[in-house]
Amino acid sequence: MQAMTTAPTLPADFNDFVGNTSTVESLRTAIAGGRLPHSLILAGPTGAGKYTLALMLTMAIECERRPRDLWSDGQTLAGFCGHCANCIRIASAANLEEQVAAAVAAREELRETDKKDTRVLIQPHPDVLILPPDPPQLLIKLGQVRTLIQQAHYLPAEAPRRVFILTAANMMKEAANSLLKILEEPPDSVNILILAENPGELLPTIRSRCATVRLGALPVEEIESLLAYRRPEVPPKQRALIARLSQGAAGRALAFDLEAYTAARADALIFLHNAAASSQAGEPDHTALFKMTETYRAGADGQQKTSALLRALALLFEDLLLLDSGAPELLRNIDIRLELERLAAALPFAWIERASHALDQVQSGLRRNLLRSLSLDAFAAQLTTPAGG
Ligand SMILES: [Zn+2]
Repeated sequence: MQAMTTAPTLPADFNDFVGNTSTVESLRTAIAGGRLPHSLILAGPTGAGKYTLALMLTMAIECERRPRDLWSDGQTLAGFCGHCANCIRIASAANLEEQVAAAVAAREELRETDKKDTRVLIQPHPDVLILPPDPPQLLIKLGQVRTLIQQAHYLPAEAPRRVFILTAANMMKEAANSLLKILEEPPDSVNILILAENPGELLPTIRSRCATVRLGALPVEEIESLLAYRRPEVPPKQRALIARLSQGAAGRALAFDLEAYTAARADALIFLHNAAASSQAGEPDHTALFKMTETYRAGADGQQKTSALLRALALLFEDLLLLDSGAPELLRNIDIRLELERLAAALPFAWIERASHALDQVQSGLRRNLLRSLSLDAFAAQLTTPAGG
């Protein structure tokens, strides 16, 4: 789940990559010394910056100018220029979600028979291939790994090496077995990066052939001070709120649009108040709810608005569950604590769990592009069924 942000861009250099400093330094040293493992798992929670770092490492590997930071202790750290033809093309893949959506949409346009054989792949550079989980199952599939293997056996065309990034660890069994073969004997000029929230999802045989590097989420305080430094125009109270809402992700925090989030959240709260009212009175008044869902129908930006609403709702559910489980100090929407406490008292735990599950389904449906437009009314009806039922 992601909070609302503007389009992501990559940090201009490694010094702007916030958090996990010593880990990043050791990776840069390895690149500078030509010692980066052929196969590397970047492990860490959502928002830790796995994909951002993977692209930055790729730029450091492929950069035409190969800038180096020389430290007084004799260490040499690899960097990237950000301006050469290789850097620019690799950086163009920064907005992964948008690129995947475009690739999926392009596949939708194909004839049925061709669709089946077309896998979603992002190729920002002839020597850099990105493999996202393929919808609708959202798993990395055999066809994708086959393309990786095919390309891996050619020498790099324009850059020093070939780099492959698997953006998730969940794969079909055949894909995993096929990947294993190339991990056993990776060609000399190949680097494979596997991004994993939970490396335990990978076959033990895959894990044992890769080096694993862990990235931690950033503590709230660290994000707050980052915001104080980089977005000083934001008042301290709002910085504290953004730090919590961005869930340990520095990039997300820096780009966070609090106004848009607050608007989406106001609508999400209407859902919750309606559900709370029906659980207590039995005969709720849906006027406000339907008046709100009405505003989601028209316009091309309808889908974006809907996703923002769903993301806000997901954060609210998480907060309600935190309150219910006695961990109020972890609350994210700290500016509406009292309102959330009243809602948590009115909504049974089982309802929140059920609604939260229904929301997951809708969100993954949207991600898979199965629902071209979501019927918010149907979803609303589902959520507002009496809490006991
Ligand atoms: Zn460069």
